[in-house]
Amino acid sequence: MIGIEEIQSKEDLFINYDNLTAEEKIFIYYYSFKQKDMKYIENILKKFDSNKTYQDVQRLVEECKKYTREIQNIRNKFTKERKVDNNENFEEFFKWYKNQKSHCGYCGITQQELHTLFTYDDNKTLPLNDNWSKNDRGTLQIERLDNKSNSYNVANLILACPLCNNAKSNLIDENSWREIFVEPMRIYYKKLLGRELKNSQI
Ligand SMILES: [Zn+2]
Repeated sequence: MIGIEEIQSKEDLFINYDNLTAEEKIFIYYYSFKQKDMKYIENILKKFDSNKTYQDVQRLVEECKKYTREIQNIRNKFTKERKVDNNENFEEFFKWYKNQKSHCGYCGITQQELHTLFTYDDNKTLPLNDNWSKNDRGTLQIERLDNKSNSYNVANLILACPLCNNAKSNLIDENSWREIFVEPMRIYYKKLLGRELKNSQI
C-alpha cells in the first residue's frame, strides 16, 4: 500500500518538523526523500484524497519549500563516500544529521556562535585572511571520528567546527583531541567571542 501507511512508518523522518499535516508529509516524503516527479506525487495524493488537483500539488510545492530546501541541503552533504558507506540510505543519513545538535561535537561551539565569528564586514573576526569562501559562514563540517577506519558510515561521523576539524585533521586521534586539545580550543573561542560559550560543558 502506498501513501499514508508508508508515511506513518516514516514518522521518525519528521520528528523535528512540527505541525505538518499528513498531506504535507506525504508530499515531502515523495518529493524530497523518494525524489518522485510531480505526476507520481499527484497520483499518490489522489489515493489519499480523490479531490486533489494538480493545482493543489503545486500549492504544496510552495508551502513545503522551507522543508524541501533543508532536506536538499542535507542531501548535498550526502557525498559519494558517504553514500557508499551508508548503503545509499539517505534517510538514515538524514536522521543522523537532524539528530546532531547544531554544535561542534568536540568543543561544543554552536552554529550560531560560529556565524557571529565568521563575518565579512570590516570588523571581521574570522577568517584571518580572505582564503575562505565568503559563503561559508563557519558552517559545521562532517568529519570522521576515527580516521583509521576510513569509514563514512554515520556511526563514524561527527559534526565539527572548522577549527577543530582543521587542527585535528588526520594527525590527532579522537581521544587525544578530546583529552588535550578541546579545552584550549574552547579558551580560544571564548577569547574571540569575548564571552563564555553557550554550551558550558561538553
Ligand atoms: Zn570545535
